[in-house]
Amino acid sequence: MMNKQEVLSILEQYGLSATKSLGQNFLCNEGVISAILELAEIDKDTACLEIGPGIGALSEDAVKMAGRYTAVEIDTSFQDRLTSIIENQGGSVIYKDYLQFKPDDLEEGAMPDVVISNLPYYVMTPIMLKVMADFPECRKMVYMVEEEAMERIFAKPGTKQYGPLSVLTELFGKKEKAFTVDRGSFVPAPNTTSAVMTITREEGKVWDPSWITFVESAFALRRKTLVNSLSSSGRFDKADIAYALSSMNKKETVRSEELSPSEFTELYKILRERKDV
Ligand code: SAM
Repeated sequence: MMNKQEVLSILEQYGLSATKSLGQNFLCNEGVISAILELAEIDKDTACLEIGPGIGALSEDAVKMAGRYTAVEIDTSFQDRLTSIIENQGGSVIYKDYLQFKPDDLEEGAMPDVVISNLPYYVMTPIMLKVMADFPECRKMVYMVEEEAMERIFAKPGTKQYGPLSVLTELFGKKEKAFTVDRGSFVPAPNTTSAVMTITREEGKVWDPSWITFVESAFALRRKTLVNSLSSSGRFDKADIAYALSSMNKKETVRSEELSPSEFTELYKILRERKDV
């Protein structure tokens, strides 16, 4: 487990430093590391994927706890360190931008049941959305995010913060705030407080990855009505959207932030059925 002294000595030993533009803030609080691993409920039957292992604060133990462990890391300068703590322990590392990653890049049997990430904050939203697209069967996600981002993720309909991430994480599973993490728990310290959250799949809850692009296009033109925003994607006609909304007893002038997550899925269903006719 890593404390501040150990992080500094690993950086020195491998001649590494944190690259700000890649969102590199290394965890150095042992209590936080164990709490994240506990939330992840990783055991020998678990295939675990970590996005952005860095110098391995979470990876060093996760690889020993999991049946299968894979990490996706954009920064090849961590290679020597990650070879010694992950690959030499039976895990694998894929050196790639996660946004360019494809589930086919995984070895057989490595499709994750659990995804963990102390997320690089500059690319948090696209990574969270891509994980839901790539791994629809994933049982649990444990994420470290900026505390401010929590407001967007947990926002309710009708609020300014409500957007695609709030809607889609709600549709994917049960989301829960776990705990906040102070800036001093990282080397270097980020500008804001961080927080850990989980998203857990719920038995019987249907998840359709094609909801992702649908909901994103519904919010694409924030200041416009839902009809205008959705039709701008070129996928649906204004008349069809207006018809679908009226069959849901919604006004044609409704805005995306007024629809609940389940209303988005209902709207999508009506539009798809209408297209098939
Ligand atoms: N997991 C380590 C920890 O907790 O100390 C490092 C976390 S650091 C906040 C974010 C990590 O994500 C860094 O290792 C960074 O290089 C990596 N990263 C940044 N952008 C990435 C991307 N697009 N795809 C994969 N990894 C990325």
